[in-house]
Amino acid sequence: MNRKIVVVGGGAGGLELVVKLAKKFKRNQDVEVTLIDCNPTHIWKPLLHEVATGTLNSNHDETSYRLLAKKYQFSFVLGRVGGINTDGKHLNIDPILDENHQEIVATRQIDYTHLVLSVGSLCNDFGTPGVTDHCLLLDSRQQAEKFHSLFINHLHRLSDTQNPPKLLSVIIVGGGATGVELAADLHKVAKQLPDYGFADFSSDNLSVTVVEAAPRILGQLPERISVSVTKELNNIGVHVRTQTKVQRVHADSVVTHIDESIPANLVVWAAGIKAPSFISESGLPTDSIGRVQVDKTLCVVGHENTFAIGDCCACPMDDGQFVPPRAQSAHQMASTAYKNIVANIQGQPLKEFKYKDFGSLISLSEFSTIGNLMGNLMRGTVFIEGWIARLFYLSLYRMHQSAIHGWGATLLIMLGDRIYKATRADIKLH
Ligand SMILES: Cc1cc2nc3c(=O)[nH]c(=O)nc-3n(C[C@H](O)[C@H](O)[C@H](O)COP(=O)(O)OP(=O)(O)OC[C@H]3O[C@@H](n4cnc5c(N)ncnc54)[C@H](O)[C@@H]3O)c2cc1C
Repeated sequence: MNRKIVVVGGGAGGLELVVKLAKKFKRNQDVEVTLIDCNPTHIWKPLLHEVATGTLNSNHDETSYRLLAKKYQFSFVLGRVGGINTDGKHLNIDPILDENHQEIVATRQIDYTHLVLSVGSLCNDFGTPGVTDHCLLLDSRQQAEKFHSLFINHLHRLSDTQNPPKLLSVIIVGGGATGVELAADLHKVAKQLPDYGFADFSSDNLSVTVVEAAPRILGQLPERISVSVTKELNNIGVHVRTQTKVQRVHADSVVTHIDESIPANLVVWAAGIKAPSFISESGLPTDSIGRVQVDKTLCVVGHENTFAIGDCCACPMDDGQFVPPRAQSAHQMASTAYKNIVANIQGQPLKEFKYKDFGSLISLSEFSTIGNLMGNLMRGTVFIEGWIARLFYLSLYRMHQSAIHGWGATLLIMLGDRIYKATRADIKLH
């Protein structure tokens, strides 16, 4: 019988999985591996705040799915999955439209025998009024590029000598990794602007405020990391406001739970996550934030041969908590899903997924990197800061690249990055 394995979402977890599956079944005519993604290229999501500030050029760092499909011999389908017919075992793919909303490719159906959902997560606005209309998000490359373009426009306004506004105020709602890393990166850019022709710009012209409803930022991480990061953010000049809940957002301000209005030119919403709605709309079992419920083998509850990995799934751990939505979780789940799909096809029993927390690292751009490492080698938890932490942080991305390209190609990419950096501006200002 022909097996059609379809992986939806080529992100941190899905792309690693599809490469492993394609390598495994390269010479097996009975197994077809297909990746579906709504974008033609992959950018590792933890880099999106750098795309937003311009410290990373998305055109340089993207990986073409079609190139990988050619290299590893899997099929790539460009399109957004809008629904799953679990009885008929097919996926409905939304039409592709051009910029004038004219249809380029009509709605399609893709059959599967084995399905893996790895579509990641979206920002959760918890129904807060004004977020959809006035906030910028960092869920996708397009959104990060939109922030970048508006940010650059504001910088031009500030440099208008005829009528210069005094301050660019950026409010970031949500003190998780995304929010704090973006805040630090914005200050890095501000520091470099005078070298790039914005002669009158100084850090005093930029106000970045991280607004967090909980008593501390980075609430999911150990308190010690949160304290160190808050201290470092304050040193850089980022305002951190905890125990402050945003009640609504206007075009030029955010209003807090005590009816305080904070003026803002740009508001980024980075508080909480939810899963894409087509999952629950397709009748799969989901939790309160729309994540598909999987058992410990990563199989969707009540649905044979259907798996889910990464941010879009709610995977229970032994302590009753769910696996946290992180790149390392997606990476580890990709390995287990791979083993279980192979086991399933070979008629072997499936393995349980065991999440191993190796720690967390928060990059505050050039200012600092702070985090902890965990594991048997560390004999518990070790807190690290500075260049050692930076080295571990950078190695996470290189490990992702090596899972996709192999170590040889990753070393060449690293060399290429060095050459690229030596010949280009540190920040993208267009
Ligand atoms: C700015 C930022 C910084 C972060 N920093 C860190 C960090 O330092 N450390 C860390 O561990 N985590 C970090 N994260 C979280 C981390 O990026 C995610 O946990 C991780 O990417 C989840 O991987 P995933 O494979 O589940 O989904 P993703 O990597 O998000 O991939 C999802 C893929 O699915 C595709 N897709 C979505 N919907 C559809 C659809 N309907 N049809 C077809 N394709 C679809 C998308 O195009 C994408 O390619 C950060 C996130 C952000 C936004």
